[in-house]
Amino acid sequence: MKKSTIWLLAGIMIIAFIGLLFLQVKYIQITMDSRDEQFEQSVKRSLYQVSRNLEFDQTLQYIEEDIIESEKQYTQYNRPQQSSSKSSVSRRRERWTSTNPDGSELTIDYDISTESIDSTEEPQHGVFISPGHGINTISKTSYELQQAFSKRYLHEKALQDEVILKIMYRASTKPIEERVDFRKLNSYIRSELLNNAGLSVPYSFQVVNQNNRVVYSTPGYPKENYTKKKEKAVYTQILFPNDPPARLNYLRVYFPTKGEYVFSELSFAIPSMIFTIILLLTFTFTIITLFRQKRLSEMKNDFINNMTHELKTPVSTISLAAQMLKDASITKSPDVFKHVTGVINDETKRLSFQVEKVLQMSLFDKQRATLKMKEKDANDLVVSVANTHDLKVQKYGGHLDIDLQAEESTVRIDEMHFTNVLFNLLDNALKYRKEDVPLRLVMKTWNDSGRLFISIEDNGVGIRKEYVKKIFERFYRIPTGNVHDVKGFGLGLAYVYKIVNDHKGTIRAESELGKGTKFIISLPLITQN
Ligand code: ADP
Repeated sequence: MKKSTIWLLAGIMIIAFIGLLFLQVKYIQITMDSRDEQFEQSVKRSLYQVSRNLEFDQTLQYIEEDIIESEKQYTQYNRPQQSSSKSSVSRRRERWTSTNPDGSELTIDYDISTESIDSTEEPQHGVFISPGHGINTISKTSYELQQAFSKRYLHEKALQDEVILKIMYRASTKPIEERVDFRKLNSYIRSELLNNAGLSVPYSFQVVNQNNRVVYSTPGYPKENYTKKKEKAVYTQILFPNDPPARLNYLRVYFPTKGEYVFSELSFAIPSMIFTIILLLTFTFTIITLFRQKRLSEMKNDFINNMTHELKTPVSTISLAAQMLKDASITKSPDVFKHVTGVINDETKRLSFQVEKVLQMSLFDKQRATLKMKEKDANDLVVSVANTHDLKVQKYGGHLDIDLQAEESTVRIDEMHFTNVLFNLLDNALKYRKEDVPLRLVMKTWNDSGRLFISIEDNGVGIRKEYVKKIFERFYRIPTGNVHDVKGFGLGLAYVYKIVNDHKGTIRAESELGKGTKFIISLPLITQN
């Protein structure tokens, strides 16, 4: 697959995901808004009904009181007037006083009239019209019934008038705590929320009087200066909305679980979001893997080209030498013979070294290396590797120093593989040396935070910062690596990395282009008890 195709795929998928996420979020938002609105409507409707119920209760209470009072008056006024007259109107004068917010007093005098009608007289302005006298006994009885009914009607009307006046002028002056039974109010709220709106959610409430003082509050009601979130969960309803505006009382109801209620129907949104995120992650991982595979296949191609060249050269040299030995026309003096066999020997070594390198990697491709771990002194190992390499370094006019600072140096290692690791690093230092500067190599050991460190430092060509992280990858070769016509497969450091890791160690490189490279290996120490 072409790189551009992978990028195109990635672009399309990213746009699709962003679109999907946007739609999901939008849908959740809209659903939450409508749920919130629905909740608000239901609560407002219920609280309005609660306030109506309180008004009915108050009216009923006044009617009851008044009936008792009027009945008393009725019997009082009715008896003495029976002999003298027909209909009479009893008048009472009442005074309504209220204190204004500025402290001044407002007084209103008003008359309450109760009309009582004598049943023996014909009413002048009755509700029903007289059918005339003595037509027959049935119509007389009917007429009397009408009279009684009319009398009751007027009586009730007068009662109502009085009650209305009382409610208008007396009730609103009373403190709210005397007008409302808070336990009853609580039960009204509960039943209205349940019956009117089908809401059975926890709530707490408070009643605030005309002076903005809290008169009653249930335990869970939030304290003043509550947060915006809490503020949104508080609903206010005016109690007795027909009271004078300066004397209004308020009921405030707080729903602590409003957020959960609004979100409850959206519980599906969370798994759907999780699935989308999982999809996004899987997709990102797939794209990254695609790119990795692409690079790996490119590197493998380079490797095959490289390997073909590296293997072909010794093979063709050996076959040439063999032909020379076979050719009868060539005089095989001892010198020639020695030279040819020497060439064959060198090339065979080179060939086996190349094959060995490829095998090393393929052997460790999947499974963990089978290491033969032994306790070893790292300082000793460094000395022996340095001795072996010293000659080679000197051949190139270089110098190899060792600096053994590690006091604790016993580690568990596979000697063969770990020696290979150090060889590989020293080989690289030779391969990537600067032609014009004498090679200087330093091998150092030291202890730090319970671990052993080994470093190999050179003054070679160095590595660009952006490549340093990649050099431990398989088949990776720095593009400028070929400037010095240095051949390789890009496997040496991958092998080093794998072996060090299998020893529960770490390796990192510090390098600066043109100045040199330092490889630092750290290994766990064996604590000797
Ligand atoms: P190879 O040497 O076969 O190319 P390696 O895995 O040993 O593969 O190294 C990978 C790359 O790291 C090399 O191509 C080289 O450019 C760079 N490199 C390794 N060691 C050094 C070093 N000591 N100095 C500079 N560059 C190095």
